[in-house]
Amino acid sequence: MVIHTQKKLLVQALSSAKKNDKIGFVPTMGALHKGHISLVKKALEENDLVVVSIFVNPTQFNNSADLQKYPRTPEDDISLLKNLNGKVMVYLPEISDLYEGSVSAKNYNFGGLENEMEGKHRKGHFDGVGTIVNKLFRIVKPDAAYFGEKDFQQLQIVKKLATIEKLPIRIVGCPILRENNGLAMSSRNKRLSAKQFEESAIIYKTLKEVREKFNTASIAGLNALVAERFLQNPNFKLEYFEIANEKTLKTAKRKNKGSKFRAFIAVFADEVRLIDNIPLN
Ligand code: AMP
Repeated sequence: MVIHTQKKLLVQALSSAKKNDKIGFVPTMGALHKGHISLVKKALEENDLVVVSIFVNPTQFNNSADLQKYPRTPEDDISLLKNLNGKVMVYLPEISDLYEGSVSAKNYNFGGLENEMEGKHRKGHFDGVGTIVNKLFRIVKPDAAYFGEKDFQQLQIVKKLATIEKLPIRIVGCPILRENNGLAMSSRNKRLSAKQFEESAIIYKTLKEVREKFNTASIAGLNALVAERFLQNPNFKLEYFEIANEKTLKTAKRKNKGSKFRAFIAVFADEVRLIDNIPLN
């Protein structure tokens, strides 16, 4: 496994590989877990060479404490990736290798996808995501890039980004990997206490309850049910719960036939922010 810290050297290495090899790409912010590894495995199945980037992107954080406390475990990340069978190239840059001059984001119009849910609650987040993913796509020039449904809104936005930037990259969505108690795997889970980790089972349990009742209950009834579940559990603060159209990500007012719906949730356990989602039909 080769590790590059400079884009110049990564581009050099890739340009000689590119002639014959299909290149897969998995962008990450590190503190890797089985969810990330499942993306890399999928990419290895479908490509000859997989680039994994590990970079905590400052421009997608709207909260400086969250950026500061974001877990960074490069040694562990590298040993996890070394255990995989297949050709993996790691890109582990410093901020200055990706942001020359000012550390700022481009303004994107993702056709409204950026104004829903995460976009409402994390101002500028998707400009930061678009900026870094566009930079990385132009460096790696992959045939296919792999993103988790854990960040479903991000997945939809990256598909739109590839169209806007006219990049011929296949964007592949991958299923959410969960802990035994149902909690969606996340680098931020490392910041939970043992008790919070255990109790955070409420998030997926509630999403499953919504899925079970989706055919019979109204959307307003389901919103009230989720609010109630979290009121009963003062260790978690519900930031938002929304049932939205999968394509437009707009809040669903009623259950139109022929549309696909998904429930989305963001919850705080103290200052640790957890998100999750589930398909409903
Ligand atoms: P992150 O390091 O959090 O930016 O995540 C890097 C990629 O891994 C993103 O495409 C995420 O959606 C994906 N990912 C994170 N957690 C999971 C999970 N539990 N299951 C599947 N994919 C995940």
